[in-house]
Amino acid sequence: MKKKKPNYKLRRNIAKVILVFIILIPIFMINKTKIMHAPLYISNSKYSKTLDAFFQINYNTNETKDILDKLKKNKKIDKVDSNYIVELSNKGYSHNSINYMLLNLTKTELTKMLNKKYDKDFEKYILLDLFEWKKYSRYKNYQNKNPKLTIDEVVTRVSLNLDKDQYEETVEEKNPNSLDALVNKHRYISKDYVPNDLVDMEDGYANNMFGVKEIRKETYEQFKKMVDAAKKEDIVFYAESAYRDYDYQKSLYNDYVETNGQEEADKYAAKAGFSEHQLGTTLDIANIWTIEEGDKEYNWIEKNGYKYGFIFRYKKKFEDITGYAEEGWHIRYVGVKTATEIHKKGISYDEYWIKYINKKSSKN
Ligand SMILES: [Zn+2]
Repeated sequence: MKKKKPNYKLRRNIAKVILVFIILIPIFMINKTKIMHAPLYISNSKYSKTLDAFFQINYNTNETKDILDKLKKNKKIDKVDSNYIVELSNKGYSHNSINYMLLNLTKTELTKMLNKKYDKDFEKYILLDLFEWKKYSRYKNYQNKNPKLTIDEVVTRVSLNLDKDQYEETVEEKNPNSLDALVNKHRYISKDYVPNDLVDMEDGYANNMFGVKEIRKETYEQFKKMVDAAKKEDIVFYAESAYRDYDYQKSLYNDYVETNGQEEADKYAAKAGFSEHQLGTTLDIANIWTIEEGDKEYNWIEKNGYKYGFIFRYKKKFEDITGYAEEGWHIRYVGVKTATEIHKKGISYDEYWIKYINKKSSKN
């Protein structure tokens, strides 16, 4: 009888399959404790590559210990138990969020985070450039009071101190001479500040003025160009108020309060030091009557003003941000480049300043 030749090929394959299982089972088990997150890159400047590496390896290996030691040595995490990372991860926090927390939160704050429910907003907040951990509870309060706002709007507004009352939590604008200066109900200029390049405006460009006819030189040159261009299209306007010094603004505001009461005064008039008119780059315009939103002069400037560097500061849609009622007569010179960007973005100067100007200058 012919002896059947054993099927070595089949046996080899069975052995291979068994071997693969022997290797794979422990890997599956280990993976249960592995923190599974794809690396993300947040805009936080303190972003840690070392910590990033932590998420690429298995928890509880010598390599993990090395990385944690390195993080501690670099003071990236101070006395933080590596278990925090696993616990936060189990709670649902992403790699990015844990990274941020370890770099920015104290141990007590981390423990609080661990004891609280997973906060899905946290993940979105930390991706915003203006996000600051120390303001987190202010964001949450403001968000609760204004549920219609996006998280981006919440962070922007809290950065402008809009969660505080008017004239509460104020800071000094230290560069009033800059065309970028921001003056609002939370930012003031020194009462001694007087621009050093004020010039007198001629009749025609400045009629029926209340107060002095002075304005900063560049603002005046650009204003004249704008007025002349408008005239060619039969649109006429002129300045009826321009630079105002601290004392003049003070008497103006006090008169307003006396006549109309505090609340009404605060809708239209600024407290001394908090008025843009002290910058010397701001004008109130009129054509016999003071110009308001929707007037043909307003519409012309809305369409063309940016080409000369002018913007409206107090539009109806910005009332919540500026704290002023609509003032279609109040224009501000910020330079052609900035005015063009604001025109394109359709946002208020306050928002533009905190997002694009302040960010740039605070990095220097
Ligand atoms: Zn004004």
